[in-house]
Amino acid sequence: MRTEPAKHLQLFVLLAAMLLAACQPAESPLLERRFIALGTIIDITLYGAEAEQADPVLAAIERDFHRLHHDWHAWEDSRLTALNTALQRGEQTPVPPDLMTVLEQARALNRSSDGLFEPAIGGLMALWGFHSNDLPDRVPDAAAIEAWLAGRPHMAELKLQNGRASSDNPRLQLDLGAFAKGVAVDRAIGRLRAAGIDNAIVNAGGDLRAIGARERPWRIGIRHPRAPGVLASIATRDDESIFTSGDYERYFEVEGRRYHHIIDPRSGYPAYGTASLTVIHTEAATADAAATALFVAGDAWPQVAADMGIDRVMRVRPDGTVELTHAMAGRIRFETEAEPDVILRELP
Ligand code: ADP
Ligand code: MG
Repeated sequence: MRTEPAKHLQLFVLLAAMLLAACQPAESPLLERRFIALGTIIDITLYGAEAEQADPVLAAIERDFHRLHHDWHAWEDSRLTALNTALQRGEQTPVPPDLMTVLEQARALNRSSDGLFEPAIGGLMALWGFHSNDLPDRVPDAAAIEAWLAGRPHMAELKLQNGRASSDNPRLQLDLGAFAKGVAVDRAIGRLRAAGIDNAIVNAGGDLRAIGARERPWRIGIRHPRAPGVLASIATRDDESIFTSGDYERYFEVEGRRYHHIIDPRSGYPAYGTASLTVIHTEAATADAAATALFVAGDAWPQVAADMGIDRVMRVRPDGTVELTHAMAGRIRFETEAEPDVILRELP
């Protein structure tokens, strides 16, 4: 849901770099579709599928992405902003079944993340000025953040009953930005599989899910959080999602300090101590929410990873030190000239 043109350009360069890094058997036919939705470039690559079989599915997936972009937009008129207005007024609103499923999934992920993945954070995101196509240029008043914290909304306060949503907390404003991409990617994979296509990558600006066991796997680049290009790469296995949350995605600086778009709902301020956090997990929605939650967790991320059932994690600290779980260490290949300092972290 970001539309800065410079960012798209950056992404094109990055995606090109990733494509170079991908091992694709020369003889295999590849089908590709690329479009912009959810504020990023969506790239779908199919391997071994016929165009006649793939075209209608790709068209349906593209329609899905555009629909989700419009339905869930956090600040332009959308089904989500309508729902938020109703919540603010203390009204009960009918919610269509597909959004209901997503809200239930969001509530479950909020619980398992100890509240660090907090989609009820919309009011705070707006306060920080991130609900705009332009980046903010000033830090909100401390008093305004204190006021939000005093009435802090929680996902558990969202009541979902008989196809309706309501809350007793009028400050509860939903923002699905931390996992909308993941949900959309899972849906796309679902459509591909239903059509009998089982060798594919759905890539949403570097966050992706790959399916298909092949002789030579897809090799995915993980962006360096502080330099142009790729920090590391991962060869995907049968069915995996790889999602990264980074403090470089949307941020502004005031007096030399970086203020970015991943907010700690406990402090009301951007979460510090992490530059980027990558997780591998089967489902994209869970991987997306977990990348955000573990980013927010800071040094305590291994506990949250264990609680969310995530075992493959890479955290890059702002000083460049890399923390890995054992399971991730077996998967990562560094692509930088000098290998970074690496610390292995045990999961509890
Ligand atoms: P990226 O934009 O790099 O994919 P994320 O998946 O972490 O990063 O999503 C960041 C977005 O999630 C923010 O722009 C905001 O909409 C929302 N958000 C920020 N902090 C939180 C949080 N603690 N819990 C849930 N959503 C959040
Ligand atoms: Mg996320």
